[in-house]
Amino acid sequence: MLKIDNLHAEIDGKQILKGLTLEVAAGEIHAIMGPNGAGKSTLAYVLGGRPGYEVTQGTVTFMGKDLFELEPHERAAAGLFLGFQYPVEIPGVSNVQFLREALNAQRKTRGEEPLSGGEFLKLAKDKAALLRLDMEMLKRHVNVGFSGGEKKRAEMVQMGILDPTFAVLDETDSGLDIDALRIVGEGINAIMRAPEKGVLLITHYQRLLDVVKPDKVSVLAGGRIVATGGPELALRLENEGYDAVMAEA
Ligand code: ADP
Ligand code: MG
Ligand code: MG
Repeated sequence: MLKIDNLHAEIDGKQILKGLTLEVAAGEIHAIMGPNGAGKSTLAYVLGGRPGYEVTQGTVTFMGKDLFELEPHERAAAGLFLGFQYPVEIPGVSNVQFLREALNAQRKTRGEEPLSGGEFLKLAKDKAALLRLDMEMLKRHVNVGFSGGEKKRAEMVQMGILDPTFAVLDETDSGLDIDALRIVGEGINAIMRAPEKGVLLITHYQRLLDVVKPDKVSVLAGGRIVATGGPELALRLENEGYDAVMAEA
């Protein structure tokens, strides 16, 4: 589904990704772990097409297409979803408005009919219930005054509504208490665990991987993938730390 080959990228002339190679097959959840400043969020932003991130070398193929040929909104319409480490606040726009506009914009790009108000509300209620987020929260402005955990749950409601084929989730577990972590993890499983879907799950913690069980685990350090293994690699990192695993790699 996603094939990243020798990716180099820079911000403000500073090289962050330095030859990153990684593949995710359909049906796989691939966890990315790595020390602070390794380039994990940069990878997520480059895949999403955030302005200011310049790709200087390498290729990314998404579902057989050159990802960099697609504008960010075309990537989203093609089924790519990016969950942010720091979700942004949008004062003046309610979650319901935002989500409905986002969904119908994607449907339009794909040549599909928009959902009616009634159809949309039913879908939104289903997904809010899955993430145990009160519908009242969805009537409020996007993320304004939300706690860290509420922002992450609202973002997973968004993922449920957009129903992407591939999700890049950047530290979706940060700021979550134990109960919210379980709810969000089970939400990710319910929305994304499917033979035709894939996930890049960026996280620092085994506790999320206890709920969302990865098929593969890779370590990103210094802008490259330095080790890849199965779920046992995450347990080793938790026990021995990055330095030991990276020294060996
Ligand atoms: P991670 O998510 O793995 O913690 P990031 O991708 O956020 O790491 O950052 C990787 C490196 O890029 C860090 O050294 C960070 O300071 C640097 N960086 C991030 N954004 C910018 C920017 N806008 N300008 C310059 N350097 C940046
Ligand atoms: Mg970080
Ligand atoms: Mg980060």
